[in-house]
Amino acid sequence: MPKILHNLQTIGSEIVQSCEAANRQSEDVQLLAVSKRHSADAIREAYAAGQRAFGENYVQEMLEKSQQLAELDIEWHFIGPLQSNKTKDVAMTASWVHTVDRLKIARRLSEQRPTHLPPLNICIQVNVNREASKSGVALDAVNELVETVDQLPNLKLRGLMAIPESTKDVHKQRANFALLANAQAVLNDAGFSLDTLSMGMSGDMDAAIAEGASIVRIGTAIFGNRPTS
Ligand SMILES: *Cc1c(COP(=O)(O)O)cnc(C)c1O
Repeated sequence: MPKILHNLQTIGSEIVQSCEAANRQSEDVQLLAVSKRHSADAIREAYAAGQRAFGENYVQEMLEKSQQLAELDIEWHFIGPLQSNKTKDVAMTASWVHTVDRLKIARRLSEQRPTHLPPLNICIQVNVNREASKSGVALDAVNELVETVDQLPNLKLRGLMAIPESTKDVHKQRANFALLANAQAVLNDAGFSLDTLSMGMSGDMDAAIAEGASIVRIGTAIFGNRPTS
C-alpha cells in the first residue's frame, strides 16, 4: 500500500481512538493535511486517498501548488506567518487562514477577498505560552481582536488557533490546549459563536483532541519528514 495512504488510514484510526477516549464524535474532528515543503505529487497521493483539506505555511508555495493542482477540488488552509504585502494572494486562494493575529491583516484580507467567493474562514492565532519566538496575540488581548474581526465583511470568524510550546509531557500539552479551549468558551459565553479550535500536530494530537480540538494540523505523520533544503 502506498505510504501516504497508509499513514492517512493510521491517523484516521488514531483520531477515532482519541475521540472515543474523550467521549467525542470523530466527525467533529477534521484532519488538515499539512503539506508544506512536500511536493505536488505527495498532495495528489493524499488527494487520491480522499483527503481534501491541505495546509501550507508559505504564500508563494501555496500559490504554486494551487496552480499546479488547479483541477483538484482542494480546500487550501493558510497556516503560516502572514505579512501584509502577501494578504491579497491568500485572500484569493485560500478557504481558511488560521494565523490572523492583528487587525491590519484581517482588514486587508476582508478588503481583498473576491466577492464571488464565500467569506474567508478565519482563526485568531493565540500565543498561549507567551513565547517571544512565536506569533499570536496574548490571551488577554484575544477578546478585543475577536470583537473587531467579527465585524469585518467577507470574513467568517470561526475560532482560535495555537501552536503551544513543544513538549513531550502530556500533562503540559493538555494544560496548554486547555488555555485555548477555555478562551474560546469564555468568548462563546459572551455571545460569540465560534465553532473551531485549530490545535494539535503530529506530536500532540491526542492531547489536543482530549481538550476539544476541531481541526488537527498534521504534517510529518502523513507525509514523513520535510525535506530540509
Ligand atoms: C508544520 C506545521 C504543522 C504540522 O506539524 P507536524 O509536526 O509536521 O505534524 C502544523 N501546524 C503548523 C502551524 C505548522 O507550521
